[in-house]
Amino acid sequence: MGVSEINGTLIWYYNICKKEVWFMSHSIVPDQGDENIDLGKFIHEFSYKRDDKEVSFGNVKFDVVFQSKQELVIGETKKSSKYEQASKWQLMYYLKVLNDAGINARGVLLYPQERKRTDVNLNDKAIKKLEVMVNDIERITNLNIPPEIESNRYCIKCGYREYCFA
Ligand code: SF4
Repeated sequence: MGVSEINGTLIWYYNICKKEVWFMSHSIVPDQGDENIDLGKFIHEFSYKRDDKEVSFGNVKFDVVFQSKQELVIGETKKSSKYEQASKWQLMYYLKVLNDAGINARGVLLYPQERKRTDVNLNDKAIKKLEVMVNDIERITNLNIPPEIESNRYCIKCGYREYCFA
């Protein structure tokens, strides 16, 4: 997998568990009944909620929340803030893709069920961190076997646990 094929979903998984990045990139599908990994639901919701406000840009897609001459705000609607760090980096990745194209934007994570919203802003530190993530994702996806990962707090509900702990 080349850097150009890395997308926001992989950034999201990278921030949950690096081993999942390997499974995902090798087309190994998680258990669909799984609430944590939720890939099926994730993709379904992501595509289902698409409307005319959604924008494709390169290999990423996101919702435009607000656009004026001065400002572009892109958003991701999530069911729960349980995975906020992963969601934040996913959105940050979209902001970086825009930034690389000379488009300044800021982001907002929306949690309608929790009546919560979190602002996400790109800065130099985040850009550097994303570059490290992208390079590491590329390294992981090129491994022949999944990386050894200690169990973590997401394992209990992970759709890949049978691969890891059977
Ligand atoms: S079971 Fe745990 S270690 Fe294995 S892929 Fe899932 S989160 Fe990662």
